[in-house]
Amino acid sequence: MHPFALERPRDLSAALAFGAQAGRNDAPAEYIAGGTDMVQLLQEDVRRPDRLISLAGLLDGRIESGSQGLRLGAAATMAEVAAHPAIMEQYPVISEALLNSASPQVRNQATMGGNLLQRTRCPYFRDIGYADCNKRAPGSGCAAIGGENRWHAVLGTSENCIAAHPSDLAVALIALDAAVEVLGPSGQRVVPLAELHRLPGDAPHMETVLEPGEVIAAITVPANPAARRSHYLKVRDRASFEFAVVSAAVALDMDGSRIRQARIALGGVGTKPWRVPRVEAALAGASLDEAALRQAAAFAAEGAQGRGDNDFKIELMQRAIVRAVGIAGARA
Ligand SMILES: Cc1cc2nc3c(=O)[nH]c(=O)nc-3n(C[C@H](O)[C@H](O)[C@H](O)COP(=O)(O)OP(=O)(O)OC[C@H]3O[C@@H](n4cnc5c(N)ncnc54)[C@H](O)[C@@H]3O)c2cc1C
Ligand code: SF4
Repeated sequence: MHPFALERPRDLSAALAFGAQAGRNDAPAEYIAGGTDMVQLLQEDVRRPDRLISLAGLLDGRIESGSQGLRLGAAATMAEVAAHPAIMEQYPVISEALLNSASPQVRNQATMGGNLLQRTRCPYFRDIGYADCNKRAPGSGCAAIGGENRWHAVLGTSENCIAAHPSDLAVALIALDAAVEVLGPSGQRVVPLAELHRLPGDAPHMETVLEPGEVIAAITVPANPAARRSHYLKVRDRASFEFAVVSAAVALDMDGSRIRQARIALGGVGTKPWRVPRVEAALAGASLDEAALRQAAAFAAEGAQGRGDNDFKIELMQRAIVRAVGIAGARA
């Protein structure tokens, strides 16, 4: 492990002044919240900051639900959010995404902010024994393209990186048009979650639009009639304690037995949490008939590119959409 200094700032403005940069391996200073992802990467020598800036006790952890929607303080834990009665009742897709993530121990410790900014599970990124990883060492190549890529993305990839985004929570939130409140040395701004993560392009080591020093302070979700009739379907290699091979977050506004409006996002298949607007448009006015759902789900495959081991995801994600829409539609 690379030696680092642990800073415990007395307040948030002192923390912001360190200029730590989330989601970059080349950053000399990085934040740490619950530490469930960060500590693993420090131990494996994947991340080598000189300074770690602790956010413990500095960020809001409140969960507020009202007529305007939902606000989750960045320090709220995955367990607290998953078990909140208003979220279970009015935003089941969020609760389900969290309960299908990690383990109870991790969920007790991990925070909302850290969840959105966790790093990819690409095994080549997480093992410094592999020299070729553009995300860890810019310009070094990509061992996954042409290597084992069963876990990798088929949407939003580039010739420089095909790593899948790992967060289940982000998939549920993006389907509900969530945004993040960002605080930094130069003030506050709001970033739609759909714009927080960057596509890998030719700079996969730059994962978000956050500037040095900026922290995620809170997540907001606007009130929406579809949120109550929502579902998170996660397909994984074992029944618990496993990341998504493919997942689908679905929220439906129904007009009798027909879909008035659908919101759909996919996990495990994109280099960032992936919304599928063409599928949503095709579902507007459709019934829950399986053939109609199947026809609409086919739009998810537009632009998808498999790399061999992960080709199966292109079919699987369409089936996940059909199954998740059926389950959400059957909800009262
Ligand atoms: C065994 C295991 C299984 C897991 N399974 C799943 C799973 O199935 N699904 C899933 O979605 N996740 C899974 N995870 C990942 C887990 O959800 C994340 O590790 C956790 O959410 C990270 O939160 P944290 O507070 O511990 O973040 P940390 O580890 O402290 O930080 C993670 C990153 O976020 C940055 N950061 C943290 N908070 C902020 C903030 N407020 N502002 C700016 N930057 C910040 C840090 O600098 C760091 O880059 C698993 C983790 C483990 C260890
Ligand atoms: S897919 Fe991305 S993270 Fe994985 S080895 Fe290639 S460059 Fe690195």
